[in-house]
Amino acid sequence: MKKILITLIAVSLIFSSCKKDDSPTEEETPLPMAEGTVKIAKWKGDKRAAMLFYFDDSTIGQAKYGIRIFNKHHLIGTWFVNPGSDYYKYNKDIWEKESQQGHQELANHTMTHKGAANNQKADYEIGEASRIIWKARGEKEFASLIAFNRGGGTSWDKVNLNAILKKYKNIDRVTTKIGERMIGWSVPKGSKPATILKNYPKALKDSMIWMLSFHGIAEKNGNPPMDHGNGAVWVEHFKTFAKKAEELKSKFWNAGYIQIYKYIQERKTASIKLIQYNDKKYAVELSSQKDAKYYNEALTIIVQLPQDWKACSVEQNGKKLKHTIKNGRIQFDAVPNGDKIYIRR
Ligand SMILES: [Zn+2]
Repeated sequence: MKKILITLIAVSLIFSSCKKDDSPTEEETPLPMAEGTVKIAKWKGDKRAAMLFYFDDSTIGQAKYGIRIFNKHHLIGTWFVNPGSDYYKYNKDIWEKESQQGHQELANHTMTHKGAANNQKADYEIGEASRIIWKARGEKEFASLIAFNRGGGTSWDKVNLNAILKKYKNIDRVTTKIGERMIGWSVPKGSKPATILKNYPKALKDSMIWMLSFHGIAEKNGNPPMDHGNGAVWVEHFKTFAKKAEELKSKFWNAGYIQIYKYIQERKTASIKLIQYNDKKYAVELSSQKDAKYYNEALTIIVQLPQDWKACSVEQNGKKLKHTIKNGRIQFDAVPNGDKIYIRR
């Protein structure tokens, strides 16, 4: 017994002295993932956080300045429009054509922003706006999900709102749980760039959604700046914000509400599997429980293979997928519920 004990002490001494002698080197630091693992990135492009920008009421300044500035800076906003309003009609081509050139997300703020007193009127307010949005997207009716916001101060008391939203594939941004933490802020009129940007470091630190809700965009820097009757931020301040937001795209995934919502929903119901055939051929199987017709946002997949992999092909259904590879870490985007994705050295 004593002998065993002494041996044990001796062995543990050897081990602890080994640890002491070996100062940690780069090579000994464990890899973030073991060889041959696969995962879905929290945010698209494996970005650290997400950024989401709302614009309500299809104001004149949003069309004339907002859409164009966002297009120019390769930013995506979610524009809650009222297609039955004079504002919207005045800039119909910007809303329905220019916005789509920059892949802006049109969203439903109802036809007239007046609420509805019965189901028939509500069906028109929500359904007609949905049809206009699908048409602008170049899609068939009922082809895709649409973000929805009923509008402040409107009444829908005698209406089965949920059934109508469901019918038109509308997702209510207020009552729906998007599925990840969000730091959201309604930008007050007259805000300067530093104020508009104040929440992004927190979103970045906690890997959250950074959401800003804008109102008008004003041509003149008044006190407060006004966009045809709507409290606004001055266009020059908005430009400074947009320039900074474009820079932040290196860290944030910027997308519309529906894109972000779909990504989270698909990821949370996804299963993913890495299959190895031999040392030169792997495959990834990716599925989600969501309806593939509506939940078709590509997820970012990260596969860790042996570090000596320097180049490979990634292919699905005979089509090459764009990918990056570094020290065996392969990254690409793929839509769930498709064919197997093959990775070949
Ligand atoms: Zn509104």
